[in-house]
Amino acid sequence: MAGKAPTSSQDFRHALLQHLTYTMGKDPEHAQFFDWRMALSHAVRDRIVDHWVASTRKTYEQDGKRVYYLSMEFLIGRLLEDGIVNLGLAEEAKEALDSFGQDYRTILMDEPDAALGNGGLGRLAACFLDSLSTIGCPAYGYGIRYENGLFKQSFVDGRQVEAAETWLQEPHPWEFERPEVRFTLGFGGDVISENGKTIWKPSELIQAEAFDTPIVGWQGRWANTLRLWAGRAVDPFDLGLFNSGDFAAASEHEALARSISRVLYPEDSNEAGKELRLKQEYFFSAASIRDILRRFDSKHDDIRLLPTKVAIQSNDTHPAIAGPELLRILHDERGLSFEEAFDITHHCMNYTNHTLLPEALERWDERLFGRLLPRHLQIIDRIDDAHYKAHPHRTLSARSDGQVKMGELSFMVSNRVNGVSALHTDLMKKTVFKELNALHPERIVNETNGVTPRRWLHSCNPKLSSLITETIGDEWVADLEQLKKLEPAIEEAGWLERFTQVKTDNKAALCDYVSKAHGINLNPEAMFDIQIKRMHEYKRQHLNILETIAHWLEIKDNPSADWVPRVKLFAGKAAQGYYFAKDIIRLINDFAKVANADVDTRDVLQVVFLPNYNVTLAERLIPAADLSEQISTAGKEASGTGNMKFALNGALTIGTLDGANVEIREQVGADNFFLFGMLADEVMQRRMMHDHAQQAINADPRLARALDALRSGRFSPEDPGRYTHIADNLTWSDYFLVCSDFTDYWRAQREVDQVYTEPQKWAKMAALNVARSGWFSSDRTIRGYMCDIWEAKSLIP
Ligand SMILES: *Cc1c(COP(=O)(O)O)cnc(C)c1O
Repeated sequence: MAGKAPTSSQDFRHALLQHLTYTMGKDPEHAQFFDWRMALSHAVRDRIVDHWVASTRKTYEQDGKRVYYLSMEFLIGRLLEDGIVNLGLAEEAKEALDSFGQDYRTILMDEPDAALGNGGLGRLAACFLDSLSTIGCPAYGYGIRYENGLFKQSFVDGRQVEAAETWLQEPHPWEFERPEVRFTLGFGGDVISENGKTIWKPSELIQAEAFDTPIVGWQGRWANTLRLWAGRAVDPFDLGLFNSGDFAAASEHEALARSISRVLYPEDSNEAGKELRLKQEYFFSAASIRDILRRFDSKHDDIRLLPTKVAIQSNDTHPAIAGPELLRILHDERGLSFEEAFDITHHCMNYTNHTLLPEALERWDERLFGRLLPRHLQIIDRIDDAHYKAHPHRTLSARSDGQVKMGELSFMVSNRVNGVSALHTDLMKKTVFKELNALHPERIVNETNGVTPRRWLHSCNPKLSSLITETIGDEWVADLEQLKKLEPAIEEAGWLERFTQVKTDNKAALCDYVSKAHGINLNPEAMFDIQIKRMHEYKRQHLNILETIAHWLEIKDNPSADWVPRVKLFAGKAAQGYYFAKDIIRLINDFAKVANADVDTRDVLQVVFLPNYNVTLAERLIPAADLSEQISTAGKEASGTGNMKFALNGALTIGTLDGANVEIREQVGADNFFLFGMLADEVMQRRMMHDHAQQAINADPRLARALDALRSGRFSPEDPGRYTHIADNLTWSDYFLVCSDFTDYWRAQREVDQVYTEPQKWAKMAALNVARSGWFSSDRTIRGYMCDIWEAKSLIP
């Protein structure tokens, strides 16, 4: 491959110096971390671009089917190390930086996280991009270039405080602005008839401008594009107004247009900013559809071929409006009959469902919807009509009760609809899409989530990666099922010792980080028990802390007994308006303050809530985990991907039979998984008992005592009533069945303690988790989508 790709550390040194001087305009004598990071990023980027151009060229030559992954969120994290590792440049980069007296790690750590997502859904999209490039499937990710990503979290007196995230304040070296790729989009206005044609005349126009980030796969064999849209004014500056002295009004158009790509919405913002949210959804979906059609038109004359060249995946319902938009363009603008336009659209569109929580299924007030997208509302009615025509006795519709139902709409428009774990897909068929599934039994398929082994093992856990490579060679990085070959080694005491040493080293490294970053000294000898994820009642961080409180009270009863030392680590953000979740954070912090100061217990129990959970923090914590907390109410977690990252890094799971936990347990073996709790159908049964919580509390004095401790104000003496409402909620309502699962969770935790006292046994179980987690590679997931949903092919020979 041609280009200015540096190949040796000498070349790399030269490239670094070139960029430092000519890109950054700095003399090495005076360069800061930032300058070195930029120079390094540009040197790596040059190399990526060579692969990117070659891949794009090949995609056009072959003119096969392209995959378009539409997602409101991409939780990418850092890109520099990712690029270096995928291109195998780590040694060259280290040596080159060394020669200038710069520390490689320090420079990597200087990069801010690209946090364009809330949690699992956005991180899944990022893992998929990595796998699509590794596999060589020609694909584009489409999303929004939020100026402010997910908020930064800090604690003040234990309470979550949010601050704006500003990842674009420094230049972002990975994106290429494409001022020539702009589409004008409309909102509002009227729908009129002219010469038998229907024309939408929007009253407000805005432009979407493209920013491209190359996504390079393993060993640089392929690179795809992540294209993010930014809002721009059609007419950015009114010179007349400016000259008349009204400077603010002169730029108002631009400010309004930019606000569309300003903020990432928090996942629980059911109330706030609805109109802007719907605008964001249409904005990026419509821009992406236009871009897809432009690319198709550049090579083809016959629009009926579209489904053979284009597969669109809607990540949840946020991009669902892409379906009606494509249909509208084909019918209104290109003159196809409605039936034909619908047929083509249907064969291009697919939808991934991520939630069965009724409050999380997206719905829009039809007045708001009709005001912003009047023509789309008519098209949705015609989709409903077509549905009635085909199924006259059915009552279901995408628009009813004054609402537009994005889940139903997505189902009706899509060729394939998928769930994200076996259990979730099964429940989808039985609950939310019961009626639609009966009409279209072939439409719903399962594609269990996965995570990229490049980031979530090879990069984040270099010591384990080296041990694995030494044992079975390096092909596992792109073929994770090969981890199975570790099983014979696990029988050797010597190997198992090395495996344990890796965990010990990773824990020491985490202790070092926590000490430096937060001034807290963790006990490296203790079991590291970790729950990190978004704060949500269904994920039940409060079950965890309640059990921890109960356990602490028992230790206090008998401090000199032989307790198994634990460090309980938490991290996670709560949506700004989700007060209950924020109070759980505060409770954990308040309890931690009391427990960590208690001389009776602090040697055997430490509790720490680390602030500002993000991809980078996950990469630090997961390799150091002994125990992974996956304790959601059964039936509520669609899949989870955090659970997979932990198992892959040799943590044992304590978990319910929920989401992908079911499959993790199947894969690693029931003996190597700490199961507890009710099953999904037991949950539904139990909820019908009006006094389920009180019965559980009456039956378990430990639970009663922990709840009493909350009510007594023991953890908030300055404000004794602070946690009464949590105790009351659990006693009187407890929708997520914390009390009903408490006793079995307690039992499982004691089993965990027991096994931890047998280091050999624990190590073997943990190593088997690694060896048997190969199935949770997102490469496997993407191959599933390519085969079952997209009918797309790899272009890597
Ligand atoms: C993997 C990941 C998630 C998803 O975690 P779950 O436990 O599956 O909810 C969320 N946030 C970040 C930063 C992640 O890396």
